[in-house]
Amino acid sequence: MQIAELLRTAAAQIGREDAEHLLLHLLGKPRSWLFAHDNEMLDKPLVETFQAWLTRRAVGEPVAYITGERGFWTLNLNVSPATLIPRPETELLVELALARWPREAAFSVADLGTGSGAIALAVASERPAAHIIATDASAAALQVARDNAQNHAIGNVEFRHGHWYAPLAGERFDLILSNPPYIEEGDAHLAQGDLRFEPRTALASGMDGLHDLRHIVALAPAHLKAGGWLLLEHGWQQGAAVRALLDAAGFSEVCSVRDLENRERVSLGRWQRKQ
Ligand code: GLN
Repeated sequence: MQIAELLRTAAAQIGREDAEHLLLHLLGKPRSWLFAHDNEMLDKPLVETFQAWLTRRAVGEPVAYITGERGFWTLNLNVSPATLIPRPETELLVELALARWPREAAFSVADLGTGSGAIALAVASERPAAHIIATDASAAALQVARDNAQNHAIGNVEFRHGHWYAPLAGERFDLILSNPPYIEEGDAHLAQGDLRFEPRTALASGMDGLHDLRHIVALAPAHLKAGGWLLLEHGWQQGAAVRALLDAAGFSEVCSVRDLENRERVSLGRWQRKQ
């Protein structure tokens, strides 16, 4: 079948953008390739694979789970149904972390609930002298994160299996980062779109969505060096609640930062006291 025709039919089912993305992934070609080649014929086995992917996408499976990868920061990362699909808004958390230390600085970082490793690996790739420990309660997610570190030859991230701070007993860091689950348990969005296919434990966090954020803030003082920072991603309506948690825990310089859509997306605070 001719590529142009195949794409036309596919676009009618799943939209042009996803159809092109899947086809180009299948062929291992950049988007520019299409312009000069869309009159070519595609062999039957490739057409069959493409059509199987179309069916999966048409019932709602995220493109990233079909291709097994998603770009984050400068990295192409493997993802699987055991990991959340990294979101562009999470790059704000990475930017804020990088803004605190120059390129050559040797500082220590914990990334809690690393999933595919997105945050830890982005920071590690930009701060080669930093030492980063990334934890996750899911062994399957950690395996994906480890593979991503290996694929990008990133050697300054150590992966540890366990819930939040559990594998970090007695250790203190200059920086703690997390994009934890923060959706309310009863939120209708959990039953819609890509979220249906992503791990529920990576998305939902108690009736008010703050269950894990509360835990992470409460234990942060025991894991931060004096002057260290805690940077947390959260839902766009949770800024005030997370600032209140940080204030109550004794953090200073507490504030929220807005994402590109002008929504409060990350809140942060500094730990000045010795505990
Ligand atoms: N830290 C990972 C990310 O930002 C996973 C986050 C999660 O599973 N809640 O993509």
